[in-house]
Amino acid sequence: MLYFDHNATHPLSAAARVAWLDAVERFVGNPSSPHRVGARAEAALMGARERLAAVVGCDPGEIVWTSGATEGSNAVLHHSATFTEGEAWISAIEHPSVRAAARRYFPKGHREIPVTRAGVLDLDWLADMIGDRHPRLVTVMAANNETGVLQPWRAVMALCRERGVPFFCDATQWIGKLSARGLGECDYMIGSAHKFGGPQGVGFIKCPRHFQPLLVGGSQEDGRRAGTENVAGVLAMVAALEEREALLSDGDEIPARLAVREEFVAKLTRQVPGLGIIGADAERLWNTVTVVMPELPDCRQRWVVKLDKLGFAVSTGSACASGKEEPSHVLDAMGLSAAEASRVLRCSGGWNTRPPDWEALLGGLIQAVGTR
Ligand code: PMP
Repeated sequence: MLYFDHNATHPLSAAARVAWLDAVERFVGNPSSPHRVGARAEAALMGARERLAAVVGCDPGEIVWTSGATEGSNAVLHHSATFTEGEAWISAIEHPSVRAAARRYFPKGHREIPVTRAGVLDLDWLADMIGDRHPRLVTVMAANNETGVLQPWRAVMALCRERGVPFFCDATQWIGKLSARGLGECDYMIGSAHKFGGPQGVGFIKCPRHFQPLLVGGSQEDGRRAGTENVAGVLAMVAALEEREALLSDGDEIPARLAVREEFVAKLTRQVPGLGIIGADAERLWNTVTVVMPELPDCRQRWVVKLDKLGFAVSTGSACASGKEEPSHVLDAMGLSAAEASRVLRCSGGWNTRPPDWEALLGGLIQAVGTR
């Protein structure tokens, strides 16, 4: 089976595996325990905090460990709702965890920032509206999980800073695929280990020291997140991140991967008439190709199922959470009809996906179209 669903989860990287095994053997204590065994675990967490902070560019004291990005977005929206009055603005293409948390914590006051047909945040809209309305929080993801379309988070951050509005960036799909440098400048920022080769169930928030905890009942993380930290998970996550950043520091790496993707896209659109590329006019992650499959008469089987039978694990455009087919709010915000959205397939490669794998996928997609 060829795996093309890395935006859902990326297999554990070699460095993360080594770090995890090492940590479970060396750091057996609870980081909050008063003895030296506990202190060693606490020191390991502190070392990881410093390394992560050095990569993203923030103070180590601004990092809080979490169970992943869903917890991260809930915690940020919860914190924001605790302090001031006003609205939370989120882009129309945020992950369901951001959307649901905004609905929960800002039941009367959340608003969506529109995107263009290419799936990019409408910066003009934001610039026009932000001055008069002064929202309490602006939330824009760094890269979209369904389309791979990159968002202008640096420009949004600058705009927010000018207006004194806190900015939250969900960088879950960006981190580990593009350099995380500079993301630490966002007021709030979240990441999740399993999207870049760390283990599942661990992530982080970059947030201020006065962060209001979502989980209570313990003084861990300086009172910002109760619960025993996942020491081995954290160490494995940071090892995976450093491994990715080292690769990304080679300036040829991303252009080479983009070239492979573009060749795949060019051949695919040439060889499958009626197929469309989502976000074709926008800058996208090098690993993601989201397509609208052609409309075929008598096509009774879902495309993901066909591809699965042919030996390719791909995803639909929508939720990676349940495997359920729900209409995608992202594709809807980009102006796709429900019928088009139902034919969308997301193919997301990983660091170990090689040009012959993309070539094989090309063959698989062509075959799928041929076998109705
Ligand atoms: N945000 C984005 C952009 C995501 O892609 C995901 C994972 N699908 C999440 C948040 C949730 O991450 P986690 O699995 O760590 O809860």
